[in-house]
Amino acid sequence: MTDNCVFCKIARGEAPATMVAEDEQTMAFKDLQPKAPLHVLVIPRRHIASLADADDPALIGHLVEVATKIAKDAGYAARGFRVVSNTGREGGQAVEHLHFHVLAGRPLGAPWSPWDR
Ligand code: AMP
Ligand code: ZN
Repeated sequence: MTDNCVFCKIARGEAPATMVAEDEQTMAFKDLQPKAPLHVLVIPRRHIASLADADDPALIGHLVEVATKIAKDAGYAARGFRVVSNTGREGGQAVEHLHFHVLAGRPLGAPWSPWDR
């Protein structure tokens, strides 16, 4: 089921990624097509399709905590940053493995427009 999932492949070390952080449960790597000067994806190592399929609130909390730490460590606490998880077809989700985008380094515009440049 996860054989063809690109983020599972990254999690297993079978596909390349520029790693930013990792721990037992999560990995964070640079987005291939960055929409902002800082654009990192934070994923759970185990396959969860999306927020709609998530069954572990502690893991979701941890993913958000990791995302926040990445933005703060990169120096964006004061300027601000955005953590977002596109979910499902109308939510704009392209990769069906749960991920949080961490975006910072430019004004991101009205609520959910980083993809509408
Ligand atoms: P979403 O539309 O929320 O599902 O976002 C998927 C994101 O994954 C996009 O921003 C892509 O640029 C990014 N992406 C897809 N494949 C890779 C990859 N192999 N390594 C890093 N980022 C990727
Ligand atoms: Zn996966």
